[in-house]
Amino acid sequence: MAKPPLQFDNSYARELEGFYVTVQGAQVPAPHVLRLNHPLAEELGLDADHFLTPEGAQELTGMRAPEGGTSIAMAYAGHQFGGFSPQLGDGRALLIGELIDLNGQRRDIHLKGSGKTPFSRGGDGKAVLGPVLREYLMGEAMHALGIPTTRALAASTTGEMVLRQNGPEQGAVLARVASSHLRVGTFQFFASRGDHARVRKLADYAIARHYPDATAADSPYLELFRQVQDRQANLIAEWVHVGFVHGVMNTDNMTISGETIDYGPCAFIDAYSPDAVFSSIDRQGRYAFGNQPNLAQWNLARFAETLVLLINPEDQDAAIAQLMEVLEAFPEQYQQHWLDGMRRKLGLFTERDEDLDLTNDLHALMQEAGSDYTQTFRALSRVADGDAEALKGILKVEGTMDWIARYQHRLGHDGKHDTRAAAMDAVNPIYIPRNHLVEEALAAASDGDMGPFDRLLEVLSTPFQLQEGADAYALPAPDGFGPYTTFCGT
Ligand code: AMP
Ligand code: MG
Repeated sequence: MAKPPLQFDNSYARELEGFYVTVQGAQVPAPHVLRLNHPLAEELGLDADHFLTPEGAQELTGMRAPEGGTSIAMAYAGHQFGGFSPQLGDGRALLIGELIDLNGQRRDIHLKGSGKTPFSRGGDGKAVLGPVLREYLMGEAMHALGIPTTRALAASTTGEMVLRQNGPEQGAVLARVASSHLRVGTFQFFASRGDHARVRKLADYAIARHYPDATAADSPYLELFRQVQDRQANLIAEWVHVGFVHGVMNTDNMTISGETIDYGPCAFIDAYSPDAVFSSIDRQGRYAFGNQPNLAQWNLARFAETLVLLINPEDQDAAIAQLMEVLEAFPEQYQQHWLDGMRRKLGLFTERDEDLDLTNDLHALMQEAGSDYTQTFRALSRVADGDAEALKGILKVEGTMDWIARYQHRLGHDGKHDTRAAAMDAVNPIYIPRNHLVEEALAAASDGDMGPFDRLLEVLSTPFQLQEGADAYALPAPDGFGPYTTFCGT
C-alpha cells in the first residue's frame, strides 16, 4: 500500500461538534477528474497521481470520503440581499478535511456540488460544469493577481445530467481549498438562536485559527472584530484595484479569514463605472462595483452584532459602543487601503494631499471616456516613462492632456525611480478574466473542448507579464458582445 495520499487534521469536525452535520456525498454514475490544479496539489503536499485514479475521482466528487477525512456539511445562516435567512448551510457542499500545507498553513478541502444535505432546502445539491469551471478560472485569476482567495483544486464531472433553467447540463463538482470556511453567517447561525456558548466557541476557534495574536489583547473578541474588519477593508480595496465585482456579497459569502469566496455571479468591469452590476438578480445594484465597501461595512455590522454578548455580557451598551467605534472607522480604513493601492498603481512612492484628487480625476475621465479600466491603468507606466501616446489613445476626452500634465508634475515631485515603471507593471495587470473570454471558454468546455479554458487559465496565471501571442486576451469585449449578465444559484 502506498502511503495515504492525504494527511488530514480535522480541527473543525473535532472541536466544533454541533456546528455541522455528517453526511455522505451522492453516488454518481461516472466520476471523472476533468482538471486538477497541479501547482496547488503540490503546495498542499498531495500526491497528484492519486487523484487520477478511480478512487481519487470518487473522493473529489464526494462519493467516498478519503481515508482520515470528514464528510460534513457546515451550518451557517446569512443575510441575502439584506434579508435574513436563519438557516442556509452547505446545501450542496461538503468539507472533506483539513490539511497542513507545505508552508504550515491549515487549509480546508471542500466540495461543491456533491449532493443533497440536510441544508439543501429543496435544492438538488448539485453543481453544473459551466459555473464550476467559472469558479476555477476566477479563483485562479484572483490568486495570480495576488488577491486572497479560495482556490480550485479540481473540477470533476459526474457523468449525470442536471436540470437547470435552460435545460439539462453536465453535472460537475468543484474541489476547492480555503484557509477556512468560517463565514460571518456561521456566527449569525448561532447568535440568531441565542446560543451564545457556541458563538463563543466559534470565536475562540476563529481566533486560534486565523488571529492568534488577538488573544493577547485586552478584549480578544473586540480584537477579532478589528482584525477581520481590517482584512476585509484591504480585500475590498484589492477587488476595486483590479475592477472586480463580487456580485453576491451576502453575509454567508463573507469569510472570517479575509479570503474571497463563492464565485457565482462575479465579473470584472471593462469600462469604468461605479454603478457596474452584472448579476441578474441584483436589480437594485446593492452589490454594484462602487457599492462594495459600503456593503462590506454593512456585513461587518452584522458580524459585530453577534459579538456583543461576548465582549461584555454585563454591559451590552458598552460593548456596542466599543464595536461601533471600530466599525465607524471602516470607511476611512478602506479609503486608506484604496488610496495606498492607487498610489502604487500610479507609481507614486511618496504621499501628497493632491493624490486623492489626481486619482479621482483619472476615474472621472475614465468614466467620461468609457475607457477600459485595465488598459487605462496599464498605460500609466508608459506615461511615467515619458510616452503619453498610449494613454491618449485610450482616454479620448478633452481633460486628458491636462490630467497628464498634472500627473507628470506630480511624478516630478515624487523623484526619479528607475524601478517605477516595473513596479507599476507589477500591480496593473494586462490580463484579467474578461467576460467574453470566460464565456467563450465555458461554451467550448460544454461542447467538450477544453482548449480555450486551458489557454485562458494559462494566460491569466501570469497577468502582469506581456505574453507572446496573447494580444487578444488584453482587449475589451468586441462591440457586439453587448451588456453582460451573470446568474446566481447555479
Ligand atoms: P450560494 O449562492 O452558492 O452562496 O448559496 C447560497 C445557499 O444556497 C447555500 O446555503 C447553498 O448551499 C444553497 N444552494 C445553492 N445552490 C444549491 C443547490 N443546487 N442545492 C442545494 N442548495 C443550494
Ligand atoms: Mg455561498
